This record gives sequence, C-alpha cells and structure tokens, in this order.
Amino acid sequence: MVLPGTRDPSQMNKIAERIKRVEEAVAVACARARRDSRDVRLVIVTKSASDEAIQEVVRLGYNHFGENRVQQLKKTATLVNDYIKQHQGQTGVPDEIHWHHIGHLQRNKVRHVLPYASLIHSVDTLRLAEEISTAAGKQGLNSRVLLQVNTSNEPQKYGVPVGAATHLAEQIETLPNLQLIGLMTMAPLTRNKDVIRTCFVRARELFDEMRGEKIVGPQFTELSMGMSSDYEIAVEEGATILRIGSAIFA
Ligand SMILES: *Cc1c(COP(=O)(O)O)cnc(C)c1O
Repeated sequence: MVLPGTRDPSQMNKIAERIKRVEEAVAVACARARRDSRDVRLVIVTKSASDEAIQEVVRLGYNHFGENRVQQLKKTATLVNDYIKQHQGQTGVPDEIHWHHIGHLQRNKVRHVLPYASLIHSVDTLRLAEEISTAAGKQGLNSRVLLQVNTSNEPQKYGVPVGAATHLAEQIETLPNLQLIGLMTMAPLTRNKDVIRTCFVRARELFDEMRGEKIVGPQFTELSMGMSSDYEIAVEEGATILRIGSAIFA
C-alpha cells in the first residue's frame, strides 16, 4: 500500500514510460513526414494529473505545461514553482516552466492569467485580443498568443471560423503589447481519421496562406494541434506544438 502524499514508484515509472512512448511515436510520425522532431514541441497537459504525477514530470526535466482553466493554472504553477525551489540544482529539474493556457478564456480572467502564461492558445475574438493587449500593457508585458480556428465547423466549438480568420489576424496584428505567433485548432472527437486529418490540413493551409500573403509577421511560426488521440496525424500535417494529457496521466 502507498500512503497518501508519498510517491508510488511503479506509478512514477509508468509516467516516464508513457512520455517516452509518446516521444517515440512523434519521432516515427516525423520520419514518415520527413520532418525534424526538434521542430515539434510537447506541451504536457496537467489538468487531469495528481500533484505527485506533476512533480514527477518536472523531476524528469519537462518544462512546457498546459492548463485549460485559469484557477487551475495558477494553482499548478504555484505547486510546481515551490517544487522547483525546493529541488533547485538537482539533476534534471528545470530552472523554469513555460505555462500554456490552452482552454477557452473569458475576458474577465485575462489579467489573472497573463502573469503566468507564456503562451495563450485560445484567442478567437477581437474583443478578447483587445482585452489581452490592454491588460498586458498595464502589467508591462508583451503577451504571446495563438489564434484558435474552428476547422471542424461544429457550431458548439470555440474558435474563429476559417473564413473569418485572416481578417481577425490582420486586426490582432495592429494591437500593441501582444504578439500573434501562430494558430491553434482542435479536431472533433471521432475515430474517423479522415475527418481529423481534414481539420489539421485546413489549419495548415490557413497557416501557410497567412504567412505567404504576409498578413502576419516572421514571428508567426507555431501550429498548435494534436492531442492524445490524434497527435500522430497532427505531426504528419505540420504541427509544431502538441497538447497531450491523458496519454501520459490517464
Ligand atoms: C485537455 C486538453 C488537451 C489534452 O487532451 P488529452 O486528450 O488529454 O491529450 C488538449 N487541448 C485542450 C484545449 C484541452 O482542453
């Protein structure tokens, strides 16, 4: 039996193994697509992980984490910062964690998330972008954001429709204290790989078009797509950021 609050070694080995399995699958998908696996970043989504599991991932040296709720992001970031302070200098423990806000963001939460988030993946309206710009100005920050695009045309999904994305990107480009560095999308929950691939291809085509037509600047380099169930397809279609949770923690 493992007492609460103590590390269960078998559980912790499992996490290391699962991350390794994901990394290997990413490498294989990169080889298929003739891509360099160093161009694909793994963001580890901690929303379903226990404190012990999160600390284990930090101990293993991973330093890009994602949360989809502001409160949870603050809480997890505090936990991780405390852990890093206590274990500074220990082999593998990173100096700093980069937090990704990946979920829908309400305007009244913006000022709370800015001090923590090194990248916000979910900008999908001009009003939200303006709020980020204003709040970042007040806090003396230059916030990095992605434009979330609804490539599946599901009406209940967040994200700007594909047809409106270019115009919104042009508008966001004019705002101060904020840098638009790429696109984010989510494929629908389905076993149909063609449907998933079509969404990722749409996002990549939009990404290429915006860059080609100079609607965005040279800092526009990131394509955030791919989760536990579909990241190999995302890698094949050009993802530079994968957001993976349950494949590691479930
Ligand atoms: C939870 C979440 C993920 C990770 O999903 P898994 O299926 O657990 O890998 C990725 N992106 C967003 C926006 C999420 O909310």
